[in-house]
Amino acid sequence: MQELTHYIGGEHVKGTSGRFADVYNPATGEVQAKVPLASTDEIAKAIEIAAKAQPAWAATNPQRRARVMMAFVGLLNRDMDKLAEALSREHGKTIPDAKGDVQRGLEVVEYCIGAPELLKGEYTDSAGPGIDMYSMKQPLGVTAGITPFNFPAMIPMWMFAPALACGNAFILKPSERDPSVPLMLAELMEEAGLPKGVLQVVNGDKEAVDALLHHPVVQSIGFVGSTPIAEYIYGTGCANGKRVQCFGGAKNHMIIMPDADMDQAADALIGAGYGAAGERCMAISVAVPVGHETADRLIEKLVPRIEKLKVGPYTAGNDVDYGPVVTAAAKQNILGLIQSGVDQGAKLVVDGRDFSLQGYENGFFVGPHLFDHVTPDMDIYKKEIFGPVLSTVRAGSYEEAIKLAMDHEYGNGTAIFTRDGDAARDFANRINIGMVGINVPIPVPLAYHTFGGWKKSVFGDLNQHGPDAFKFYTRTKTVTSRWPSGIKEGGEFNFKAMD
Ligand code: NAD
Repeated sequence: MQELTHYIGGEHVKGTSGRFADVYNPATGEVQAKVPLASTDEIAKAIEIAAKAQPAWAATNPQRRARVMMAFVGLLNRDMDKLAEALSREHGKTIPDAKGDVQRGLEVVEYCIGAPELLKGEYTDSAGPGIDMYSMKQPLGVTAGITPFNFPAMIPMWMFAPALACGNAFILKPSERDPSVPLMLAELMEEAGLPKGVLQVVNGDKEAVDALLHHPVVQSIGFVGSTPIAEYIYGTGCANGKRVQCFGGAKNHMIIMPDADMDQAADALIGAGYGAAGERCMAISVAVPVGHETADRLIEKLVPRIEKLKVGPYTAGNDVDYGPVVTAAAKQNILGLIQSGVDQGAKLVVDGRDFSLQGYENGFFVGPHLFDHVTPDMDIYKKEIFGPVLSTVRAGSYEEAIKLAMDHEYGNGTAIFTRDGDAARDFANRINIGMVGINVPIPVPLAYHTFGGWKKSVFGDLNQHGPDAFKFYTRTKTVTSRWPSGIKEGGEFNFKAMD
C-alpha cells in the first residue's frame, strides 16, 4: 500500500502522527493509498519553516517571482497528462475533465505572471509642500489554504499562485480524499525555481485545520468547501485576528423561459447537471422552466439525452460522460436524498438507482436522475446533493422563477436561457447571486475576473482570483514623506491640513 507524505521544507516527509486516512480509487472502490493526517506539531513545524523562508522570497523582486510562475506554467503543460491521470485516479472524473481542472488553475497562474503590474503601488507627488505620499502593497507573511476534493488542482492553484506572486509563503492543506496532485504541484513549483519552504503541503483533517486557525504566525486563511465548515473556519479565523475568505456550497438554478431554444437548453442542462457527476460548485442542480408547456417540452428533450449518458471509469477514455462520485459515503448520501425526494412526493422521471457497471460493481457510480414536480419544501431542493441529480421546479411565471432563485439560501451561480434581451437584462440586474450566465449554463469567470458567490455560498469580502486575490494576499502601507529644507526650525505639534 502506497503511503503518501507531506511536503515540508522542500522534502517529502512521512507523517509522524500515526493517523492516516484511506485514499480510494472511486472507480474500483479499492483503497489505493493512505495519506498521513498531520498533528498540531507537524503544522507548527511547517509554519516555522514558512516564516523563515518568507522574508527572502518577499525581497525577491516581483519580476523574478513572476518568472517562477512562468516556468511553472511550462511545467504544468509538460506534465498535463501525468497530472490528469493522477487526478482522475483519486477523484474519479474523466481525463478531459481532469485536464480542465488543471487548465483552469494554470490560467490563474498565467494571470499571476502580471504580478509586477498588479503590485505597483500608488504615488502622489507633492501632496503638500515638500511632501510626497505613496502606498505599497506588501505581502502578509505566512498564509494558508484549505481546499475541497472536487477540484484538487484548480483550487489550490487559485490560492497559492496569487499568494506566492505577492511574496507570501503558503501552506496548503488539501482534501484528504485526493491529495496526490497537490503534492505534485508543490514539487513542480520548486522545479520552476521556488525556494524551499515557501510552498508546503501538509495533509490532514480537522486537527491540522484547527492548528492553522489558532497559530498566531498564520496571517490569512483561504477556504473552499461545504458551507458548515466554511462558516466554522470564517468565525474561528476572524476571532483569531486573521484575514479569512471562505467559499461554501451551492444550489444553482437555471431558468428556462418559454422562448428559449429548447434543444440548446437541454444540451446545456446535460453538461451542467451531470458533468463531473454533479460534483461541481457551479453545477446546475435545479431547472426552472417557466410555464407548464415549457416544462413539458423541456422534460421531453431531457429524458432521451439523460438515458444516453455514458457513466464509467476514466480509463475508458473519451467515451465516458462522467465517472463515479468520490467515496462510498458520498454515494450513500446522494442515494438517501434521492429516496427522500421520492418519499416527499417528487416525480422521479429518470431513475438511475439500479445503475451498475460490469467489472466495477464496487465502484462509487451513481446513475443519472431527473426529478420533476419538485417543490421548495423538499430536501432535494433545500440541500446540496452534489451528485448526478437534476431537480425540476415548475414556475408559473418569470417573477415566480426569479423569486425562487432569490429565496434560496445559496447564491453561487445561476443562469437564464431565453431569446429575450429584456428578460436576460432584468434577471442579471435583480438576481442576488454572484455569478450569472445568460444562455451560458456554467458561468465560471475567467482568471482575470473574480470568482465568488453571494449569500451562504461565501463568507468574507473579496472574491477568488483576478484583482481581488492581489488585494487579499497583500496589505497596504501608506507612507507620507517630507524632505523639507526648514526642518531645523523646530517641530510642529498641530495636526495640520495639507496646504
Ligand atoms: P468539505 O467541507 O467536506 O471539505 C473541505 C476541506 O475542509 C477539506 O480540506 C477538509 O479536510 C476540511 N474539513 C472537513 N471537515 C472539517 C472540519 N470539521 N473542520 C475543519 N476542516 C474540515 O468539502 P468537500 O466535500 O471536500 O467539497 C465539496 C464542497 O465544496 C461542496 O459543498 C461544494 O459546493 C463546495 N465547493 C465550493 C466552491 C466555491 O467556490 N464556492 C468550489 C468548490 C467546492
